[in-house]
Amino acid sequence: MTLAPAAAIAEATPAPAQGAKSAAAEKKAAPVDCSQVKCLALTFDDGPGKYAGTLLDTLKKYDAKATFFLEGQYVKSRPQFVKRMVAEGHELGNHSYSHPDFTKSDAATIRNEIKKTQDAVKKAAGVEPKLLRPPYGLADIQVSDIAIEFGMPMILWTAGSADWSSKNVKAIQKQTLAVAKPNGIILMHDWVKQTVDGMPALIKTLKNKGYHLVTVSDVIKDQNLEPGDIFPVPAGWER
Ligand SMILES: [Zn+2]
Repeated sequence: MTLAPAAAIAEATPAPAQGAKSAAAEKKAAPVDCSQVKCLALTFDDGPGKYAGTLLDTLKKYDAKATFFLEGQYVKSRPQFVKRMVAEGHELGNHSYSHPDFTKSDAATIRNEIKKTQDAVKKAAGVEPKLLRPPYGLADIQVSDIAIEFGMPMILWTAGSADWSSKNVKAIQKQTLAVAKPNGIILMHDWVKQTVDGMPALIKTLKNKGYHLVTVSDVIKDQNLEPGDIFPVPAGWER
């Protein structure tokens, strides 16, 4: 896709009427077509983090959707956030139960880590994640085979915000804006306070640049990923 027509379409999209803000109206809104407009998927790993509630408030205020790659142990300790994520239209992914390196784990451990998280999310919010993000973004053939058993593609990221290392609002905003691109998938963390603090201004800027903030499933729609597939495909990946 090219940038100019997408931006033109984004600008031509009428703003929703003031009266159309009920939950029912929100659900009925036409889905965003990421082959026609500029889309970006913000993803938040390792949560629900301590600041997930504040982040959810911000996302709601700006009508932005995100994807949360949840760690089962925190789903268990903060189930109310998981419930809210689903109720407010965000996407959930599985990011293991306790964050081990899957490429250094045996098959039984990997299966158990994924299954326990699926069960915890189902208990908290009544749904099961359909996407897997292996801890550290590390996978191999064994992980891929187990992802097939669970019916899940593996989702990495097109770029990181480096939020966990900079822990600086301005640096996180600058980095994210530098790497944002149509149908990009950005790695962030809702346990980093500065990420959550800087989110209102970051969302405003991204929207001014014509981006629609959508879920991972929205931006990967045209990839037609099968269970066990990995996206984006890392260098050297072979199946
Ligand atoms: Zn992680």
